[in-house]
Amino acid sequence: MGVTRTPLIAGNWKMNLDHLQAVAFVQKLHWTLKEAKHENDSVEVAVFPPFTDLRTVQTLLDADKIEFALGGQDLSAHDSGAYTGEISGQFLAKLNARYVIIGHSERRQFHNETDEVVAAKTQAALRHGLVPVICVGETSEDLEKFGASAVPVGQLEVALEGVASGADIVVAYEPVWAIGSGQAATPDQAQEVCAKLRAVVADKLGADAAARTRVLYGGSVKSNNIAAFMREPDVDGALVGGASLVVDEFAAIIRYQK
Ligand code: PGA
Repeated sequence: MGVTRTPLIAGNWKMNLDHLQAVAFVQKLHWTLKEAKHENDSVEVAVFPPFTDLRTVQTLLDADKIEFALGGQDLSAHDSGAYTGEISGQFLAKLNARYVIIGHSERRQFHNETDEVVAAKTQAALRHGLVPVICVGETSEDLEKFGASAVPVGQLEVALEGVASGADIVVAYEPVWAIGSGQAATPDQAQEVCAKLRAVVADKLGADAAARTRVLYGGSVKSNNIAAFMREPDVDGALVGGASLVVDEFAAIIRYQK
C-alpha cells in the first residue's frame, strides 16, 4: 500500500524582508491564495523568514488563523550557553516553528558547515521537536567529477547518522548550480537523485520512514516548472528561494496543477 505524502511548498526567504515587510507579504499571500480558491488545499505551505521576523510572523499567523507553517533558516548545534550570535532550537520551538532548514548550500559555502556540523544540527532540531529540512546537493564541479547523486547521497548518509527510525525529517535536494541561477535541474534529473535520497532514508531509517519522508527539489523553481517536478514520483514538494519573495509567483507555485 502506498503512503500519501502531503506535498510541501517551502519559501526560503534567505536574508530578505524585514519584519514589517514580512507582515505585508504574509497577509498578501494569504489573501491571494484565498481569493483564487487555492485548488491545492492539500499542499502544506511553509515560510522561512529571517530570525528577526519570526516572532512577528508567528503572531500574525496566530491572530489571523493563517495556516502556513513557520520555520527557521538555521539553528545552533547547542541548546544554550556562551555561543554569541547563535539561535537555539528551543527558541524556535517556543515560537511554534515546525521546521528548520539545515545545511543549506549557502551555510556550507559561506560558513564552512561540514557534514558533521549538519549532523549535529539535525540532532539539535530533533531534540527540540523541530522537523529538520536537511539540504544536500552537488556543485557543478562535483557534477562533472562524480555525477549528480554521489555527493548528495554522501551528505545525507552523514546527516542521518544516529537519527531514530521514527524521526520526522524532510530532505531537500538542491543542486548548488541550480540555486539562484535560473537553470533548474530537469524533472528527470531531480527524480533520479530524489529517488536515491529516499533509498538512503530507507537504508538508514527503514522502509516506513522512507515511504513517509518528503523529499523536496530546490533550485530555480518557478511557477512555470513546478508542475513538471511535482509529477515525478519521488519529488514531494519544493524549497523555493527567489520565487518565494514574489507574492503572485509564490502563490502560483503553491497552486500548481499536476
Ligand atoms: P532559488 O533558491 O529558488 O532562488 O534557486 C533555492 C534555495 O536556495 O533554497
